[in-house]
Amino acid sequence: MSKRVPFDLSRFKGVTNCFICEFLGGNTKYQHRFVAETERAVAFLNRFPTLESYVPVAPKEHRE
Ligand SMILES: [Zn+2]
Repeated sequence: MSKRVPFDLSRFKGVTNCFICEFLGGNTKYQHRFVAETERAVAFLNRFPTLESYVPVAPKEHRE
């Protein structure tokens, strides 16, 4: 069983943009590792995971 790491909000201090939109837009400050990609969605390993093997999945058409 992996140990849960608390969310570190200080890592996101000053971040005002959506990290998924920045990642998909190619901003190198928001790089994550692609796991899978389809025409409409992406799955990736978050750079700052809160859980081991945590894989967020997000639609490419992303709205706030
Ligand atoms: Zn977004």
